[in-house]
Amino acid sequence: MTCECHKINWMARVQNPDKKYRMVDGSPYVEGVGCQDKVNLGTMDYHTYLTVCKYMPEEGSLFPEEVLQELLSDMSENPATIRPAPVPESTPP
Ligand SMILES: [Zn+2]
Repeated sequence: MTCECHKINWMARVQNPDKKYRMVDGSPYVEGVGCQDKVNLGTMDYHTYLTVCKYMPEEGSLFPEEVLQELLSDMSENPATIRPAPVPESTPP
C-alpha cells in the first residue's frame, strides 16, 4: 500500500470558501484516496499510515504548512479532524 495523498490538492482547503479539499486536477475530492481516509475506512491500518504517508498533518511532512495551521486552529472544536485516532488495543473483558 502506498501513499496517494499527492493526488489531493490540500491547499484547496485554505483557498476555497467551502474549506474543502479537491483533487489536483480540480475535480471534487474523492473519499478514500488520502491515507487518512483509508485509515478511517479501514483499508489501511494505522501503522501503515505512519510508515508510508508523506502527507501527515505535522511539521516535516509534505503537508502544506498553511493547511496545517488551519487544521490546528480547528482542532479546539474537533480534535479528531487532525489525524485519525489509533485503533485502541482490544482488551479482554
Ligand atoms: Zn498519504
